[in-house]
Amino acid sequence: MIDLHTHSHFSDGSLSPTELLTKAKSVGIKQIALTDHDTISGLSEAIVAAKALGLGFIPGIEFTVCWRKYDLHILGLNIDVESPELIETVEKHLIVRKERANQIALKLESVGVENALEEAKKHAHSNELTRPHFAKVLIEQKKVKDMGGAFRQYLGRGKVAYVRAPWSSLQHILQVIKKAKGLSVIAHPLRYKLTRTKLLELIADFKAGGGDGMEVISGVCSVQEKEQLLTLCRTQQLLASVGSDFHSADITPYCFGRLPSLTSDLDYVWQHF
Ligand code: AMP
Ligand code: MN
Ligand code: MN
Ligand code: MN
Repeated sequence: MIDLHTHSHFSDGSLSPTELLTKAKSVGIKQIALTDHDTISGLSEAIVAAKALGLGFIPGIEFTVCWRKYDLHILGLNIDVESPELIETVEKHLIVRKERANQIALKLESVGVENALEEAKKHAHSNELTRPHFAKVLIEQKKVKDMGGAFRQYLGRGKVAYVRAPWSSLQHILQVIKKAKGLSVIAHPLRYKLTRTKLLELIADFKAGGGDGMEVISGVCSVQEKEQLLTLCRTQQLLASVGSDFHSADITPYCFGRLPSLTSDLDYVWQHF
């Protein structure tokens, strides 16, 4: 089994890269990509762990990008982590994240959350702060019941602590991934709540910018969603990718090690690594 979309504690996952890969092996995964949000900091540890465990490892990243009024996620798979353009963009995104975190914290404090920045940092392993770290603070301070509530009431688009950040454009990220000799993949295409027309426009822009593939299986998806993505992938002639988007065993249901079986008529992204 192959899983090309996972997170470690270098972004918003709960496990270290070593713990993640150990778990991957125990659930029967043979090849895995680590794709933390806007960072490659976990990859060196993962490479060592993969070697020790005898797992196939694909270095990856999940970039946040701006496309029109949306923030989208683009995976870079099989990237050269020494690419200067990649390193430069990752550094820029780290600064964007820091500044966004400061602004999110101020907004949260203005609605009564105490010490938001310092409290969020306690949940983060590295110096990268993600919205789930702030969600944990909201849960701890009893502002919301769970992660979903934190996004619905505070952190989601248009909500009181939402901050639109200047992430790189879609076109720039496609260039960066290409220069790093990686393949680019639209992550979870159905999660952006785009109309069908908008989704097709996104795919057109993605292909025009040199984009390679899309996820046809992403985390827990219904049979209908899977069919919709398979059809879209075929008709748009994109490479197909699959991933659990695993963050933590606490988030259920999850499908780490339980991805549905694949159809043989698609051109899969890993056949091009
Ligand atoms: P960030 O990159 O810091 O903006 O955080 C985005 C991450 O927040 C996503 O990758 C998800 O892991 C998580 N997330 C986004 N929306 C939700 C939601 N509605 N419920 C739970 N987690 C979410
Ligand atoms: Mn995430
Ligand atoms: Mn994502
Ligand atoms: Mn993800």
